[in-house]
Amino acid sequence: MIKKHVTCVFCDHCCRLSVEVEKGRIIAIHPFDPAIPAICSKPLMWESYVNHPDRVVRPLKNVGQRGEPEWMEVPWETALDEIAEKLNAIIAKYGSTSVAVSAMPVNLQSGAGLVRRFANLIGTPNYITPMELCVGNTAQVHRATYGWYTSAAYEKSDCIVLFGQTRSPENWPQEYLRIMAARRRGAKLIVVDPRVSNMAEMADYHLRIRYGTDAALLLGWLNVIIGDGLFDRDFVENKTVGFYRLAERVREYPPERVAEITGCDPELICETARVYAKAEGAVIPWGVTTDMQKNSTSAIRCQCILRAICGFIGESEIILSPGAGVPSVSELEMHDTLPPEIKVKQLGTDTYPLFSYKGANLYEDASMETYGRPFFNIADGSCMAHPPTLFAAMRTGKPYPVKAMLVLGNNTLLSFANQKGILDAFMNQELVVAYEHFITPTAQLADYVLPGDMWLERPAIGPSIEMGAMLTTSQQVLTPKGDCKNIYDLLKGLADRMGLAEYFPWENVEAFYDWRLSPLGMSWQQASQIPVIPLKPLADGTRFGTPSGKVELYSSVLEKLGYDPLPYFKEPDDESLAAEYPLTLFVGLREAPFYNTCLRQIPELRERMPEPLMLIHPEDAENNGIEEGDWVWVETTSGKLRIKAQFDHMQPQDTIRIPHGWWKPEKPQGLMNHLSDAMLLNDGLILSDDAENIDPEQGIPNLRGGIRAKVYR
Ligand code: SF4
Repeated sequence: MIKKHVTCVFCDHCCRLSVEVEKGRIIAIHPFDPAIPAICSKPLMWESYVNHPDRVVRPLKNVGQRGEPEWMEVPWETALDEIAEKLNAIIAKYGSTSVAVSAMPVNLQSGAGLVRRFANLIGTPNYITPMELCVGNTAQVHRATYGWYTSAAYEKSDCIVLFGQTRSPENWPQEYLRIMAARRRGAKLIVVDPRVSNMAEMADYHLRIRYGTDAALLLGWLNVIIGDGLFDRDFVENKTVGFYRLAERVREYPPERVAEITGCDPELICETARVYAKAEGAVIPWGVTTDMQKNSTSAIRCQCILRAICGFIGESEIILSPGAGVPSVSELEMHDTLPPEIKVKQLGTDTYPLFSYKGANLYEDASMETYGRPFFNIADGSCMAHPPTLFAAMRTGKPYPVKAMLVLGNNTLLSFANQKGILDAFMNQELVVAYEHFITPTAQLADYVLPGDMWLERPAIGPSIEMGAMLTTSQQVLTPKGDCKNIYDLLKGLADRMGLAEYFPWENVEAFYDWRLSPLGMSWQQASQIPVIPLKPLADGTRFGTPSGKVELYSSVLEKLGYDPLPYFKEPDDESLAAEYPLTLFVGLREAPFYNTCLRQIPELRERMPEPLMLIHPEDAENNGIEEGDWVWVETTSGKLRIKAQFDHMQPQDTIRIPHGWWKPEKPQGLMNHLSDAMLLNDGLILSDDAENIDPEQGIPNLRGGIRAKVYR
């Protein structure tokens, strides 16, 4: 029996696991570190995934209509020849910016640095990723405040603040165990969540705010903490800029006003603010709830500011640093090969510049001073096109045509707001390529589906995004099924055919890793025996990676981009819709058996949750004539979807909560069949990407508060 270490990417927790292999067969999967025995049940279903009868194991070409696919198997060489020829023809006809790339680095793992490299080399700035709605966007706001990303050190914490996270043994188990360990040491738990979640049930304090008012609560906390003088004066004086302007701003948010906005007791707001500020070490760990709101930038900024002024930075909140010694993800991406005149054409750069090249360029000098080299991309949330603007260009050809879409390791159609608009965008393409494991709803719109390896079948160096000063290795355990190939093989195959062979000179991904690791004096073979390779942090701690070198409570980057440099709260709810749409909708309830749009084809997981469920308080259900288990329509001003009602006394009255990412892989393909029901069930159908429904700084859609809805049978 031999043991291998791997990184599981059946979800974004990226747990480190140990796999026991005997005679080429996996006989057991365990947590890698016995001290943190974190593993959920999903990786134990690996066999059902790897050997699933619906898995795509040969390249497929659609010989039918777009959206009504008739699949024909073709050899890889043929598929790559044809795709490269079509890409070249589209670039020749419409220009290099007419090609778009949508990729999910966590799923791809070994595509780190290489997907953007390919996009940059073919001359397109129009790269998007679902990371835009996740840690990628959080990282950009962290960067505006203190230059890089903070990570919660639970082990040094005696106060944990959760914004809507529902951690459990089946959902982010490692973080769950760390929270439980901190609780056993006596750490206080403050949960901010309108719903009585599992975490709220065990909390010392539960702030049941109104959906979408997180920023107001945080501004109220800042009001109390600054008013009471509970901040770290030494840190504020020496390591921040803009404190007095911040203090002036938060005076606008006294507890009484915040209580009115949030619906919380003003005493509880004050008490929890004081508990947080007086803690020896407090943490506000990352969570998606504050990522997808109209006030998202302000909410995340407030969290950053609290960490800083209360003196937790460098103690319980660790600012990560990129590492030295190997080419970074940013360097692999070769952003300097994209000419400035192309970068300014990045879609959305004028309206939402924070995530674009325009925003990233504002850190160039700071990055040189702090890290000694320019880091353009942090957590894959930088230098990115604005997804709704890209989809609009795909649909309308304005401001210029986008005619080819490469979808790599993600289900783009279901991953953003305005799903019908995205469908129209895909239908208006001359070429769509999907690199996938299954024929997802997005893949059903493709001309070619190329079969990818899965995490047990590939070698990988992590993390797949620019983050901290370390590398992780994930060993290949299984031979890829059928003709499934690594993302490197796909990118190299296209690069070779498009005159870019010199930039992908390595024969395979292992040879690429040999090259990347060579500055450390290691081959991939040697490095792969080491689960975690620490790197020397590039930051020496003398300055923060912001333009001022300090924590920017008043953000110079936001100011330069024309935004309010200080956090604020703007009411997300449109009361004028209340008569027709009496309920408030919250989208996103992580369903433990699944990960976003993935894993619903695995029988052992699906049987735990066969249908999408809407949580509704029984009294609201009764008022709307709905019985438990009814299939109902949920409708907003943007559209409607079908879902099954489940009564939940823990759901606040006048609200409903629906999950993300639903389709039914067992249902037939094609538009006539609603793309395996994705066009009936998925949350993107009822979410808007109009300017009024997005966070004005980041340009990301609101999923988490102030969305008016009605429910009927
Ligand atoms: S939580 Fe489960 S699915 Fe997610 S990475 Fe960890 S083991 Fe894999």
